[in-house]
Amino acid sequence: MRIDIITIFPEMFEGPFSHSIVRRAQDKGLVEIHLHQLREYTSDNHHKVDDYAFSGGAGMVMMIEPVARIIEKLKGERVYDEIIYTSPDGELLNQPIANHLSTFENLLILCGHYKGIDERIREHFITKEISIGDYVLSGGELAAAVITDSLVRLLPGVLGNEVSALSDSFQDNLVSPPVYTRPRDFRGWKVPEILLSGNERLIEEWKFEQAVERTKRRRPGLLEV
Ligand code: SAH
Repeated sequence: MRIDIITIFPEMFEGPFSHSIVRRAQDKGLVEIHLHQLREYTSDNHHKVDDYAFSGGAGMVMMIEPVARIIEKLKGERVYDEIIYTSPDGELLNQPIANHLSTFENLLILCGHYKGIDERIREHFITKEISIGDYVLSGGELAAAVITDSLVRLLPGVLGNEVSALSDSFQDNLVSPPVYTRPRDFRGWKVPEILLSGNERLIEEWKFEQAVERTKRRRPGLLEV
């Protein structure tokens, strides 16, 4: 998979993309992530990418020309399965959306700033709009990093079997059962006996019951789907 990200703050991705699973996936050649500095695509001498909103009102708007230029350049180089804009009014990111996007070859993600982007970019270039939650961020970078992380961990070969993504929360519309490690007894706080029993069938049953019970208690909406 290849992910291209258009941003005015490429440095913001250094942390999330150069550690842990996303880093390992890139090192193994399972994903290529390319960051594009939008400011390099302006015709303005000061590399400005924002301008005043027509009709006044507070805040600046991301201009159409530089965005159109970079998107058209990238589209000339490869076919994108989706051109995504990170937006608080987009589709709320969830596991089924992440699963679906992770099956694609080429994704392009545009990070907004200021009061947002000129609406004509959304109308003419964007094929999918994604929100990471009902709150407003200062820019699309953190959202793009979240989207990327959620997809990359699903790519075949990225996670070992022992941490298979299929056993994580939201696959099967259940949250995960509780997990434990050594020691068996810490200050009298004990690990459930059944997990130490070695009986795989009973352990699987216990995990399933726990997952259902937790989902009912914490996220009942998941069971109504
Ligand atoms: N005026 C806009 C918010 C702009 S915030 C509004 O009220 O809807 C600046 C940029 O941050 C947005 O263009 C978007 O790219 C990004 N952003 C903010 N909140 C987000 C969220 N919840 N999910 C995804 N992207 C978000």
